[in-house]
Amino acid sequence: MGRSGLVRVLVPLIMPAISSQKPYRVGRSKTGLGLFATKPIKKGTRIIRYYGPILDSRIPEHDDIENKYLFELNGRWTIDGSVRKNLARYINHSCRPNAESDVRPRERKVFIRAIKNIEPGDEINYDYGTDYFKAYLKPIGCKCESCEKKRKKLRAEARAERAKVKARAERKAEKAGAKDLANKDTKSKGLKNKAAKKKKLNGHAVVGANGRARA
Ligand SMILES: [Zn+2]
Repeated sequence: MGRSGLVRVLVPLIMPAISSQKPYRVGRSKTGLGLFATKPIKKGTRIIRYYGPILDSRIPEHDDIENKYLFELNGRWTIDGSVRKNLARYINHSCRPNAESDVRPRERKVFIRAIKNIEPGDEINYDYGTDYFKAYLKPIGCKCESCEKKRKKLRAEARAERAKVKARAERKAEKAGAKDLANKDTKSKGLKNKAAKKKKLNGHAVVGANGRARA
């Protein structure tokens, strides 16, 4: 068992030599770092291996290891993906992902595979599964694009509802004030007429006070 674990450790060490051919890079995402496509990745393509030493739950020291990059293959075997070489550990969770984990317990391997066509610049995501979601994401609120969109929609709906209530209240207030306004309106019209009359009178007076009157 130990030997097969060692072989697994050695294989990815050769990989950086072909790093330029990899269709992904580590980059900044909304939640920290993430893995982003640098080339078009066709649906169904294996993107990257989720790599790390294999832990055997029957070995107490292995069973004691605890970190959030543990990928359980089955009841016995777990991949410890916390190692630096495992770039797949940068892949963030999404509730509507463009990739999935292809778990091969018998080979004790996990590959991340595209389930949609992925464009350069797209962040690569897969669903971490219910256990991880409940333990790590639910308490802090999932930050994936799908959940952010949902939250945004809910906020917009709440805003629209508040605006509706406000508009209704304003219409009510307007109606209630309409009678008062009507009363004030007739008064002000009277004032306006008076003012207009005054103006005319003034004009008349001015004309009257013109030199013509004196002439
Ligand atoms: Zn989510």
